[in-house]
Amino acid sequence: MKENKQFRFETEVIHKGYSSSDYQGSLTPPIFQTSTFTFANAEQGEKRFAGEENGYIYSRLGNPTVRMLEERMASLEKGEAALAFGSGMAAVSAILFALTKTGDHIVCSQGVYGCTFGLLQMMEEKYHISHDFSAMASKEDLIEAIRPETTCIYVETPINPTMKLVDLEMVVEVAKEKGITVVVDNTFCSPYLQNPLAIGCDVVIHSATKYICGHGDVIAGMAVGKKDFMEEVAMTTQKDIGGVMSPFDAWLLLRGLKTLSVRMDRHCDNAQKLVSFLANHPMVDEVYYPGDEKNRDYEICKKQMKQPGGLISFSIKGTKETAQQFMNELQLVKIAVSLGDAETLIQHPATMTHAVVPQESREKMGISDTLLRLSVGLEAWQDIQDDLKYALDKL
Ligand SMILES: *Cc1c(COP(=O)(O)O)cnc(C)c1O
Repeated sequence: MKENKQFRFETEVIHKGYSSSDYQGSLTPPIFQTSTFTFANAEQGEKRFAGEENGYIYSRLGNPTVRMLEERMASLEKGEAALAFGSGMAAVSAILFALTKTGDHIVCSQGVYGCTFGLLQMMEEKYHISHDFSAMASKEDLIEAIRPETTCIYVETPINPTMKLVDLEMVVEVAKEKGITVVVDNTFCSPYLQNPLAIGCDVVIHSATKYICGHGDVIAGMAVGKKDFMEEVAMTTQKDIGGVMSPFDAWLLLRGLKTLSVRMDRHCDNAQKLVSFLANHPMVDEVYYPGDEKNRDYEICKKQMKQPGGLISFSIKGTKETAQQFMNELQLVKIAVSLGDAETLIQHPATMTHAVVPQESREKMGISDTLLRLSVGLEAWQDIQDDLKYALDKL
């Protein structure tokens, strides 16, 4: 294989960052299950620590299996460099702490992953790094939330769990003018559906636990961005806070990534079929899916996402108890948080992923007590639909 040849996405998910000829022909990458690396002599150790010689030192600072995954992810997200973390939240916290110091301010999309909300609160309480939420519905709307101390704009799109979208091109335009770093949590899309760096954003974060892994057996995170910034993160908030990924988890993610494009196509196809069923059921109040032509963000979806994704949120007519009764009637669809797995999963944000968010903030974010989030799996869509219908009809 020619060095540096750029292949298409569907090829890079399988090959990028690994060459079997470097590893005795092993088709799949070896797992370097080691904590440390031996030096040939004391001087080599000195040189490696001084950064005068390339090579591995200790697996918190770098590991060959993890490095393969980082190289692959950097390419898939169209970035210069990637870093792997022990969880999505380890990635979020390493990036946010690298970008801020006491007195700084973060503008965050109106609606964000529950633990990211918790982290922002902790940063405010303990370190006086403040934040404001913005719907980012227009340039003016976003500019209004920005202060002289704003160093970071943090965006989730689609927003968890309301599925609202933020126009990334608009955000980049505002941020560039003011010299603010834009961080995007791209977990809901995976690099197959949306590439924020290609639009001009600075850093992309993934909870790799979700679509990147795809099989519900790993907790992991990734961050991708410019080489200089990622090197700074590697040497500071990653190394010294220490939320790194294990070689075995990196190996599972390299394996999961191979099927990312075929999985995403199927997730999206299934979701699109279920959206029309849900929208027409008398017990369903509202369906939130960016690929729905009637959705207010449909134009943004067409502009920045390859397909509308595998997640659907919808509200049930009735109360919190009606929503819970519906979940309890499901047979095939499993009640669980997380998303992006082969199995279809359903969760109740108000009492699960967003229970830490106070009721008042939840309402502002649009998370009602009857809202449910469905992560559409890879099963036959007819079977998922039958299960949803059975439970809805019982109400
Ligand atoms: C799950 C998730 C996270 C956190 O990731 P972990 O791997 O659970 O730490 C962050 N953002 C989004 C959008 C998520 O879905």
